[in-house]
Amino acid sequence: MAQRDYYEVLGVPRDASQDAIKQAYRKLARKYHPDANPGNPAAEEQFKEINEAYEVLGDPEKRARYDQYGHAGAAAGAGGAGFGGFDFQGFGGIEDLFDMFTGGGQARRERPQGGPDLRADVVLTLEEVMTGAEKTVTIGRQETCPTCQGSGADGAAGLETCPECRGAGQVRQVRESFFGSFVQVHTCPRCQGRGRIVVKPCGACGGRGSIHHERRIAVRVPAGVEDGVRLRMAGQGGAGGRGGPPGDLIVFVHVKPHPVFQRDGADLLTDLRVGFAQAVLGADLEMKSLEGPLQVRVPAGTASHSVLRLRELGLPRMGRAGRGDLKVRVVIDVPKKLTAEEQELLKRWAELRGEKVHGENRGIFRRVKNAFGP
Ligand SMILES: [Zn+2]
Ligand SMILES: [Zn+2]
Repeated sequence: MAQRDYYEVLGVPRDASQDAIKQAYRKLARKYHPDANPGNPAAEEQFKEINEAYEVLGDPEKRARYDQYGHAGAAAGAGGAGFGGFDFQGFGGIEDLFDMFTGGGQARRERPQGGPDLRADVVLTLEEVMTGAEKTVTIGRQETCPTCQGSGADGAAGLETCPECRGAGQVRQVRESFFGSFVQVHTCPRCQGRGRIVVKPCGACGGRGSIHHERRIAVRVPAGVEDGVRLRMAGQGGAGGRGGPPGDLIVFVHVKPHPVFQRDGADLLTDLRVGFAQAVLGADLEMKSLEGPLQVRVPAGTASHSVLRLRELGLPRMGRAGRGDLKVRVVIDVPKKLTAEEQELLKRWAELRGEKVHGENRGIFRRVKNAFGP
């Protein structure tokens, strides 16, 4: 059976406000209500169609899906709707797709529908990874309407037993086939398996059963967290439908690159620039770490680019005891300019070591330099 466009059913333009949709619905619902049209199956059919259209257009999330995908999108339920433009799979949507493909199959009990998972992002510095951090994220989410507890109805009188399934939530249909007749059980299309229908919508939420709120939520990010980790905060997502549980809030953790320290798992890597004499003779030097100043002993005879491993001074391991190491790569600075006195000393040093240097023949050195230099 071809379904009519929901906007057409309610007689509103596609860009109608939620309020305009609600008003159109109320007017039509009053007009075609079965009580007002006893023994008029055409009116009853129309009333059903109006309710179905409002079920979708009255809910901004379902409406957006309907706008994008048509009737199939509206039937896909609320799961996975919280992610907006993010390409995100694996949360929420699977069950609903399953429902779409098995709809009209064997008997199936209608489960309460879990709310959509929502996404938030936090960015940490490496210093915060060292200590762990308390972050605040702001999310917009649908929360169960406190007035109607999510039923969408104005008090007990706002709900009526579904006339289509008489409250069973399912409808049976006998089918004849080559193999004989068999009974098919469908979820009741009128009440979507709830067994009851809203005849008077809740004033606080307009019959949606949920209300949009902006919330600031504190997120405890554990020390040692890696870039790309997702933290799941159970029950902090969007409100569930039909008394179902709320979805989760998935917090994506991003770690900012550090100007001085690179990260290799729980290990930290950095360079320490030392003078030639310090590398040769050894020195105790002060360097910066993520936790403040740090004394490092460069042993005598340290070759350039050798790595000092400072045990347990790296990052904590997330969810485990112990820490990684701090790996300090010693880089020997070669001075570009020397004073006359420094030159004398180094020449003397070279002499003692029997090393041939330019110093003894500065005239030639200068000529070569002039030929190639700036
Ligand atoms: Zn309500
Ligand atoms: Zn029903």
